[in-house]
Amino acid sequence: MKVEVLGNVQDGGVPHLGCNCEVCREARENPAEQKFVSSIMLKENDDEDSARYLIEASPDIRMQLAGGEYVDGVFIPLATLGHITGLQFFGPEGPDASDLSVYCCEEVKDFMMKNDPYRLLIDRDNLEMQSFSDGDVIDVQGGEVESKQFYHKHVNYDTTGYMIHGEDKKLFYLADITAFTDEIEACIEEADIALIDGTFWSEDEIGRYEEVPHPPIRRSLDQFEGLDTRIYFTHLNHTNPALRKDSEERNEIKERGFSVAERGHEFQL
Ligand SMILES: [Zn+2]
Ligand SMILES: [Zn+2]
Repeated sequence: MKVEVLGNVQDGGVPHLGCNCEVCREARENPAEQKFVSSIMLKENDDEDSARYLIEASPDIRMQLAGGEYVDGVFIPLATLGHITGLQFFGPEGPDASDLSVYCCEEVKDFMMKNDPYRLLIDRDNLEMQSFSDGDVIDVQGGEVESKQFYHKHVNYDTTGYMIHGEDKKLFYLADITAFTDEIEACIEEADIALIDGTFWSEDEIGRYEEVPHPPIRRSLDQFEGLDTRIYFTHLNHTNPALRKDSEERNEIKERGFSVAERGHEFQL
């Protein structure tokens, strides 16, 4: 199985609404500097008839599927801006999908059933809900996707991390979480490759960190240094200095044996 990175920034995207920081300004001036919201695609191989699954339905989905690929299923980790909004593009204003499989936990399904833009897509059979519980394994062409649920303080329900099992390797994906618990660390350790929350470099990066806490990269480097897992940070906020390839922070990440996920990165599992 192959995993391709389709985006690496936080829900609000880059450029960020109402921001004129250097990163956002450059992204407005030069479309090549735009960054897409964190998401990955799974496929058995590059053949045209290979099934393709998304983890995340980001608001940048139209640009992320730039090759016009057909999608066979979408895994949703949580119901916030960067993770579920893209599903709306599968309705009648778009390709008018027929029974597109949406895999998510009961809380996300419940959210969708209670909110019209999503409920209508379900009623019209654009989307077919396939809800799962913690630990469930979903067979996909070329491998398996195992759900790993963790409490997320910001939304006050569980968010889903995904352990993707290929023929030889495992990749763990958890882009948006409030803190890395022992349980999460065990998943990272179990995987060969992990794409994890790197929203902020440090706690003092924005004035309202307490309101939107995420595990800062600076701390994660200490926490996970020494693990054999190849770790990539994703879901970076526009304020995160590690977004810039020439920054000291990006250099420190590299020197300590970690990476920042970039659109176009591919992993063979
Ligand atoms: Zn997010
Ligand atoms: Zn900005």
